[in-house]
Amino acid sequence: MNSQPRPPLKSLDAALAELLAHAQPLEGHELLNTFDADGRVLTQDLVAALQVPPFDNSAMDGYALRAADLSGPEQALPVSQRIAAGNLGPPLAAGTAARIFTGAAVPEGADAVVMQEECSVLDDGRVQVHASVKAGQNIRKSGEDMQLGSTVLTAGTRLGPAELGLAASMGCARLPLARRPRVALFSTGDELVMPGDVAPQDLPAGSIYNSNRFFLRAMLQRLGCEVRDMGIVPDSYEATVAALQDAAQHSDLVLTSGGVSVGEEDHVKPAVQALGSLDLWAIAIKPGKPFAYGRVGQTHVIGLPGNPVSSLVTFALLVRPFLLRLQGVRAVAPQAVDMRADFDWPRADKRREFLRVRINAQGGLDRFANQGSGVLTSAVWADGLVDNPPGQTIAHGDTVRFVPFAQLLG
Ligand code: AMP
Ligand code: MG
Repeated sequence: MNSQPRPPLKSLDAALAELLAHAQPLEGHELLNTFDADGRVLTQDLVAALQVPPFDNSAMDGYALRAADLSGPEQALPVSQRIAAGNLGPPLAAGTAARIFTGAAVPEGADAVVMQEECSVLDDGRVQVHASVKAGQNIRKSGEDMQLGSTVLTAGTRLGPAELGLAASMGCARLPLARRPRVALFSTGDELVMPGDVAPQDLPAGSIYNSNRFFLRAMLQRLGCEVRDMGIVPDSYEATVAALQDAAQHSDLVLTSGGVSVGEEDHVKPAVQALGSLDLWAIAIKPGKPFAYGRVGQTHVIGLPGNPVSSLVTFALLVRPFLLRLQGVRAVAPQAVDMRADFDWPRADKRREFLRVRINAQGGLDRFANQGSGVLTSAVWADGLVDNPPGQTIAHGDTVRFVPFAQLLG
C-alpha cells in the first residue's frame, strides 16, 4: 500500500469539540452498592433525606452547659449527667453541666461545650471552668453539612472517596451509576513484545516491549471502563481488519495504539475504512500529532499514536474527556492553573506543546530535560503538563498554564 496524503492540522480544541459531539451518553444505568462506586458517574441527583448532622452534637470531649450560667471566671457547676456518643440525655438542669463526649447529642438547654482541657473536676465533683465561654462554641449544628431536601451531589458527578463518604453520610447504600463503557483495546506493531514473554537480555534486535498496553488499560480501568484487552495485532491489513471486526462487536469503543500515521505499515485507517468510516487527524499538539476517529457500525473507534508519551498525552487530553462524557460527565476538559516557570524553553514549536514538568519546593515548575515523545521517564518524573501555546517561548519567571496529572490521568 502506498503512503497516503498527510491530513490537515487540526487544533486540539477543535478535535475535542468534534470528538465530544460524537459522545452521546450511554443509555441505561445500574444500581450499585456504594462500596463499588469509586470512579463511577452518578446518573441522578442525590437529595438529602435528612439533616446532616442529624442533631446538634459536641465537637469536643468536655462539658455541655448554658453559657449564661457562668457569671464570672473560674466558676464551678455541678455535673448533672454524662452523655457518650450514641446516647441521648434529658434536658440540662439549670445551673448544671453535662459531661459530654465528641459526637454526642448536646442536651436540650445547653448552648456551649467547654473542652475538657479548659476544665478541672473539684473534689466535690463539680466542674470548674477556666476559660471564657461563648454561646454556640464547640457545637456542630444540625444541618451544617447538609440541609434536608438539598441536592448534595448532582447527576454527572464522578465519584471519588469523598463523594462516597458523603453519599453514605446521607444514608445511600446503593447509587444509580452510568453503565461502564465497554472498551476493546489493542496495540499494533510487529516490533512489540510482551514483558514476560522474552527476557530483556534475549530481546531480538529491533524489538521493544509493549508499554502502551499497560498504561492505556490502567487509565481505562480508572475511568470505569470494562476493558477487553485483545493484545498485540500484527502490522498487516488483514490482521487489523480481523481484529477490528471482532473488537467492534459488543463494544462501545475500540481503542488502538500505533499504526495511525501515514506510512505503509499503518493499517488502522484502511482497515476501519473497509468496515466503516474513519477520519485521520493531525492534531496540532506536541507530543501526539496523529489521531484517528471513526466508527464501525455503532461502535466508536479511536486510534492513538504509537509513541508512548504521545499515546499517554492524547489519551489524557482527548480519550479521557470522551469516556467521561459517555458516562454523562459535563465538565470534562482538564483545568489549568497559573504557575511560575523556573525553566527556560527558548525554542518554541509551531504546535501547542505539553511539557512534562514537576512542582519544586519553591512553588515553581521544573522541566524534564528530555521532552521526546518516546521518553516515558518524563511522564513518571512529572507532576503534570505545561500547556504552552504555539510559538511561545518561556523564560525563567514567566507565568505558564499548568495542568496537574490528577486532571489528566486520574
Ligand atoms: P507507530 O505509530 O505505529 O508508527 O509507532 C510510533 C512509535 O511508537 C514507534 O517507535 C513504535 O515502535 C512505538 N510504539 C508503537 N506502539 C507501541 C507500544 N504499544 N508500546 C511501546 N511503543 C510503541
Ligand atoms: Mg507501528
